[in-house]
Amino acid sequence: MLIVFLGPPGAGKGTQAARLAAKYGTPQISTGDMLRAAVAAGTLLGERVDGIMKSGDLVPDDLMLEVVEDRLAQPDCGSGAILDGYPRTRGQAETLDPLAQRIGQGEVSLVLMLDVPEDEVIRRISRRREEASGGGERDDDREDVVLERMRVYRELTEPVVEYYRGKGVMKAIAGVGTVDEIFDRIDAAVREKLQR
Ligand code: ADP
Repeated sequence: MLIVFLGPPGAGKGTQAARLAAKYGTPQISTGDMLRAAVAAGTLLGERVDGIMKSGDLVPDDLMLEVVEDRLAQPDCGSGAILDGYPRTRGQAETLDPLAQRIGQGEVSLVLMLDVPEDEVIRRISRRREEASGGGERDDDREDVVLERMRVYRELTEPVVEYYRGKGVMKAIAGVGTVDEIFDRIDAAVREKLQR
């Protein structure tokens, strides 16, 4: 089963996707983590995306498609994957189903949209920044960059929510509460999907 997490920066997609992946033994594909690893390793891809990520903008769709296609084609994704951070534009969403079909994974069956008010995500990211000070800080957690990431989310990623709503696979999850409470809501949505 192919599951997609959507939500603004700081919504907790990574945390919840990792828990879901652990529970169901399905690989988590976090494009943000993959790109950060490429930057850290100094690969050609890393060199191309470093500046884009630091400014809070999006890596071009064609480059992302290559990254995701390579990853999804690996054997551990044979029975599905949990995508966190992809698709993030309408163009990425439109090419994802054909890609999944090409590699024998059907199509996206569930999109979990983590609903978190904007003032709350700004608070969470500031906290993450403070906790990380002294090492491990994400370059894109700077305040001005966070505002740019929020703008990009509203402009380019919110249409993805509409796209999946139109396909009838969207499930909004209240993203406020403890990590456990939010996970229980997510897991209930996944179990409901599996039963059908
Ligand atoms: P966020 O907390 O903003 O969701 P991520 O870790 O998912 O952060 O992504 C960090 C950055 O990596 C993004 O701001 C963007 O530059 C790049 N990135 C990640 N996924 C994608 C994608 N699907 N398309 C384009 N750029 C991406």
